[in-house]
Amino acid sequence: MELLKKTAVEIREALLKKEVSAVELTEEMYKRIEQVENKIGAFNSLTKEYALETAKKVDEKIKNKEELPILAGVPLALKDNINFKGYKTTASSKILENFVSPYDATVSIKLRENLIPVIGKTNLDEFAMGSSNENSAFKKVHNPFNLNKVPGGSSGGSAASVSALESYISLGSDTGGSIRLPASFCGISGFKPTYGRVSRYGLIAFASSLDQIGPFGRCVEDVANLYYAIAGYDKKDSTSLNVKVENPLDTLKNDIKGLKVGVIKELLTDDVDEDVKKAVMSAVKVYEKLGCEIKEVSLPLLKHSIGIYYIVATAEASSNLARFDGVRYGYRTKDPQNLMEMYTKTRQEGFGDEVKRRIMLGTYALSSGYYDAYYKKAQQMRRLVKDDFSRVFKEVDLLVSPVCPNTAFDIGSRNDDPIKMYLTDIGTICANLIGSPAMSVPCGFDKDGMPIGLHLLTDVMKDNLLLQAAYNFERETDFNKQFANI
Ligand code: GLN
Repeated sequence: MELLKKTAVEIREALLKKEVSAVELTEEMYKRIEQVENKIGAFNSLTKEYALETAKKVDEKIKNKEELPILAGVPLALKDNINFKGYKTTASSKILENFVSPYDATVSIKLRENLIPVIGKTNLDEFAMGSSNENSAFKKVHNPFNLNKVPGGSSGGSAASVSALESYISLGSDTGGSIRLPASFCGISGFKPTYGRVSRYGLIAFASSLDQIGPFGRCVEDVANLYYAIAGYDKKDSTSLNVKVENPLDTLKNDIKGLKVGVIKELLTDDVDEDVKKAVMSAVKVYEKLGCEIKEVSLPLLKHSIGIYYIVATAEASSNLARFDGVRYGYRTKDPQNLMEMYTKTRQEGFGDEVKRRIMLGTYALSSGYYDAYYKKAQQMRRLVKDDFSRVFKEVDLLVSPVCPNTAFDIGSRNDDPIKMYLTDIGTICANLIGSPAMSVPCGFDKDGMPIGLHLLTDVMKDNLLLQAAYNFERETDFNKQFANI
């Protein structure tokens, strides 16, 4: 058990000191998965053959005293909307239930190059649409801290697997908060890098101007190392940033004296649970103690971010999901009478309710009579939100707020009210609209013992500053060392 609770940094040490071999470690992980997975539901499929083969290569290198990439041998779970050659990539949708990836996402290639044993593909809300992981076509994911509660979504499987000690690190995708929300609900760290820092090539597209792949881990250093392993320019992604990525470890442990920290007024209203507010205000005190200058800031347009997001994201989704038509890949309806019926029935039977709702919303917002009133307006508003943040970033370096106004809620409690579900993302969506890096780090527990996440956000390209600020907070606290009891 103690071995499973280690961080990736500690695992590296154990591997190099030969306290454990990479193969033993991977086998331990699969044993743990066998024990708890029926309660958690984090994995759609396992990639055992690949994981063990990679672990063997790592052991070989250790034996020969060859140089090892920093995360080599550390078992990782991969969100099931990221292509991994030779294995299934389902996006938790019936329409891709039997789809086997014929190619690797760019991040998958990087995982292979870094000799990271990918142990399985993790459950998610269908096509990453959701905040609770209840929209998976296959099964729900349960929160390791309380099995009756949601793990957050859409990367619920990736977060729950780390939290339930079924993996050490994982990758998710974040379009409106899908890394940060599950990280906060499951008591781990999750990071959405600046838009374009990590290649989206091979990520099944949801909303292309918002999607970003990012890491989960048990400590900020693990998150920083995994980010550095996957980041960088990729000519296969037209929105990839052609800017050198500096190693976050160069500055991670430096102090943050004098950093200007802004507390977002609009995200600490009476709608926020008392316990969450308290934990976030205590976190602000930690920054004060670390020598930061604290200041309240106002972002009056923030309240529009959910409205803007659900126009832009659904519009892009309706276009991206047009490719699932039963012709090229994935599910096809049985015995259609004609071509049109083949298209419509395939989509009717292959997509779940939430995906259909979004395709309809997005198609409506893009249709010729409504484009100006909805899509164009949303894009204009997105620009104004960006300007609002740019103004604030002239005064402060870092913004803090709760990740979510509440902690993990009961499974089933928000299912029949999509608007209520959408409001879960009020703290996270802005980062995707403006393309900035943002992160969730554990900052406390509510009265029922459910984890609370602190949301940190910096201006675009300041990923390393953000990680440094998160590391400094973590060093002063021990919330990331408290584990779920399952
Ligand atoms: N919860 C948001 C949604 O449902 C965000 C999802 C995500 O980031 N992929 O769209």
